[in-house]
Amino acid sequence: MTRTKDQAAAVLPTMLKALRLPSINRNWKRLTDTADRDGWPAVQLLASLLEIEMAERTTRRIQRHRDQSGLSAGKTFATFDFDAAPGVRKPHLLSLATGDGWIDNGGNLLFFGQSGTGKTHAISAISHTLIDTGRRVLFCSTTDMVQKLQAARRDLSLPSMLDKLDKYDLIVLDDLSYVRKDQVETSALFELIAHRYERHSIAITANQPFSAWDNVFPDPAMSVAAIDRLVHHSTIIEMNGESYRKRSAISRIEPANNHPTGPASDRPS
Ligand code: ADP
Ligand code: MG
Repeated sequence: MTRTKDQAAAVLPTMLKALRLPSINRNWKRLTDTADRDGWPAVQLLASLLEIEMAERTTRRIQRHRDQSGLSAGKTFATFDFDAAPGVRKPHLLSLATGDGWIDNGGNLLFFGQSGTGKTHAISAISHTLIDTGRRVLFCSTTDMVQKLQAARRDLSLPSMLDKLDKYDLIVLDDLSYVRKDQVETSALFELIAHRYERHSIAITANQPFSAWDNVFPDPAMSVAAIDRLVHHSTIIEMNGESYRKRSAISRIEPANNHPTGPASDRPS
């Protein structure tokens, strides 16, 4: 049906709303005015409107993924001081953050180091960058994940939960070594690791190296099997040096010229 310009303008917002095209709804007036004034061909107007909708849809999707990721907003590369992170090389972390060569192959990323050395911040920064480039990441404490898996097992919905988690390109299990086998049934954690093996990535942070993982899984055979699957196709990063928390607390207390240099001099040059 043919409408007059005024009739079309009157129904357009309703149609755009029904079709869920909010960006076109916000921009059509301005762009149609420009098109009329500058004599754009109709096809050019159509392409410009659709382009705006596509771009904003991508931005909205990324924002939604970030909101649902469980990541802290401030833990990005913008706030990460590479000079204060001995044991990690900036180009290496930035290249991991592109996801190339590991995310698509279901490779894993393991961060070890003492408390406060920046493991959680580093993996969070990598995760934010992965989300920026359209990947999906779920960040959670390992304890929370174990509890959720265990609840799903009780409801007989563990297989479907594992399938649902497949939508995430990366699952970050923060503080793996805080989980204790007597706390919760950690074999569910093994099932997550086995389910994702060679298909979808897992990143873990842990204070303890592998030798202490017998405290995490119910028996040594399961610890070995979990470690095998995590380590095969993995990148291991050791964050060593002094706790960043402790260091920044000390520098707040002491004037800069009194700052003890001891631990810093231990750093590899
Ligand atoms: P970990 O997970 O190893 O215990 P965190 O990543 O939680 O350590 O770091 C402890 C605190 O210090 C956090 O507030 C974190 O943002 C900060 N931090 C650690 N390393 C750095 C760094 N290299 N640059 C900036 N902040 C850092
Ligand atoms: Mg941490």
